Amino acid sequence: MARNPNATPVPVERGSSPVVVTDSRNRQLRDLRISVTDRCNFRCVYCMPKQIFGRDFEFMERADLLTFEEITRLARIAVAHGVEKIRLTGGEPLLRKGLEELVGMLAALRTPEGREVDIALTTNGSALAVKAQALKDAGLKRVNVSLDSLDDATFKAVNDVDFPVAKVLAGIAVAHEVGLGPIKIDMVVKRGQNDQDIVPMAAHFKDSPYILRFIEFMDVGSTNGWKMEQVVPSAEVISAINAELPLEEVAANYPGETSVRWRYRDGGGEIGVISSVTQSFCHSCTRVRVSTEGKLFTCLFATDGHDLRALIRNGCSDEELSAVMAGIWRERTDRYSELRTATTNEIRAGKKKIEMSYIGG
Ligand code: SAM
Ligand code: SF4
Ligand code: SF4
Repeated sequence: MARNPNATPVPVERGSSPVVVTDSRNRQLRDLRISVTDRCNFRCVYCMPKQIFGRDFEFMERADLLTFEEITRLARIAVAHGVEKIRLTGGEPLLRKGLEELVGMLAALRTPEGREVDIALTTNGSALAVKAQALKDAGLKRVNVSLDSLDDATFKAVNDVDFPVAKVLAGIAVAHEVGLGPIKIDMVVKRGQNDQDIVPMAAHFKDSPYILRFIEFMDVGSTNGWKMEQVVPSAEVISAINAELPLEEVAANYPGETSVRWRYRDGGGEIGVISSVTQSFCHSCTRVRVSTEGKLFTCLFATDGHDLRALIRNGCSDEELSAVMAGIWRERTDRYSELRTATTNEIRAGKKKIEMSYIGG
């Protein structure tokens, strides 16, 4: 792969402190999510419905994608500003050729204090059995695997490409064996689609090394036909599980954790609920997202991104890029979920929200 001549390291003095940036609501930049591809081998009905993402859909050209060097350069600058966690996502990130090479480059980054950066990945698990070892060897710390049902018919109706549950479970097992844990299993719950699987999923992953998390169906993008009635509130999820498998709430691991933790009273492990719709966590949202072609988004529900690729490919220096990224964060006002109403799913002021498959979770 051609090296980007601009990919010089941002000056980070070891032993120094990060140049912390806070936004207009006093939220510090801490997490970076990078989408490495807009493509996916699944067509989950709530994310990439076939009617829109069909054979004629034009995905990005390879030349438009940020190179691994460009991604690493942006990540290095973000780390100099206090980012300590990087999550790779997509589309399906394991479809990006040579992803382990990128993982290796990111794993070599150090915070200004000299600490390792936490590198994680969100995947549909379809290629995990094959790739887990190489990813671990490259420095990946953890994976989150999306799995919406244990019932093949329901799962296939969600992924819409006839992909069986067993293959995802096999991928999860390999990821666990190679040490990519603790593995979180993420289930998006949509009423009328897989809400009957809440308790079976909980029972299956109870007493296992995996942490199951239930995610409320969100109004991301403009293609999934989201309706408030299709959201199963986390409170309902907890009450359904608690009725059969008694639970108690657990304190957060760290301030601003998006998942609320619960554990089984009999010591059978823990679960989490992510209530993006019914209990927004905008007040503690410390995430910035970079799309596959290098646009910076300060909110999952944004309509516009900032074109960092143009700056990079026009020869912008590290100092300039750093100033631009910090400036964008300082001006950030986003709190979409706090302001959400059941009607905001409509296209706002004629602008389309970005799709989940474009920016990642
Ligand atoms: N393809 C990978 C996967 O499925 O894990 C990574 C990208 S996917 C966009 C990231 C996460 O977003 C997945 O857990 C997926 O279930 C979730 N997701 C997609 N659309 C969603 C929606 N409308 N509401 C809630 N979560 C959604
Ligand atoms: Fe693909 Fe993940 Fe979206 Fe499903 S949720 S279509 S696996 S990107
Ligand atoms: Fe963060 Fe935007 Fe989600 Fe609020 S709506 S938690 S600001 S990504």
